[in-house]
Amino acid sequence: MNKKIIIAIDGHSSCGKSTMAKQLAQKLGYIYIDSGAMYRVVTLVALRKGLIKNGVPYIPKVISELKNIKITFKWDEVLGKNTTFFNGENVEDEIRQLEVSQNVSPISTIAEVRAEMVKQQRENGNNKGIVMDGRDIGTVVFPNAELKIFMTASPKIRAQRRFLELSEKGESVDFDEILQNVESRDKIDSTRAVSPLKKADDALILDNSNLTRTDQLKWTIEKAEEIINTK
Ligand code: C5P
Repeated sequence: MNKKIIIAIDGHSSCGKSTMAKQLAQKLGYIYIDSGAMYRVVTLVALRKGLIKNGVPYIPKVISELKNIKITFKWDEVLGKNTTFFNGENVEDEIRQLEVSQNVSPISTIAEVRAEMVKQQRENGNNKGIVMDGRDIGTVVFPNAELKIFMTASPKIRAQRRFLELSEKGESVDFDEILQNVESRDKIDSTRAVSPLKKADDALILDNSNLTRTDQLKWTIEKAEEIINTK
């Protein structure tokens, strides 16, 4: 019988990590966890409670909210996608809105927020057979993951993809604002003191600026199967 492995997918904002991680998990029959959604839920709660003023979170209050936040995921058969729940409430659409994207990076620099999220993420990986995407999965959450992939694409291409995605959902969005958000998240995520976004030494780089979704999925499945079959 094939042994199950942990697959860590990290990389820059809006480069299609979640889409690919989801498809890969489906193909392998693995669990998929979107770690970014977890930081987005904490941000949503902080926004709802008025704990972020002009982009600056009131850290002690955010920390004390953590104990009241339970994040779960459910696969939506009808929509064919993962859905994020906060204390049982479906917040999948709300956490993808630009206001959350604009405030999530400062929230995810808070060490206590990271410690709580990492704890919950590791619990999900106890039995292997998991694909998790984020910024620090291969470096911090699962440093022993058998397959690590670091995804990237040019900021303009990423902003174009996010622009299309939000426009299709009917959100009125401005391309320059999205590009600015992509660049500013890259900067905050890569320079923060705790668990900055960086490629793990043993991660494979996947630059998908000029790749189709089908090509990149094929490449990743091959890499995963190579490892699974030689274990
Ligand atoms: O992946 P996504 O773009 O939804 O993540 C939203 C934000 O959450 C990122 O910009 C980053 O600030 C934070 N994040 C993180 N560590 C992770 C996943 C996401 O700091 N493992």
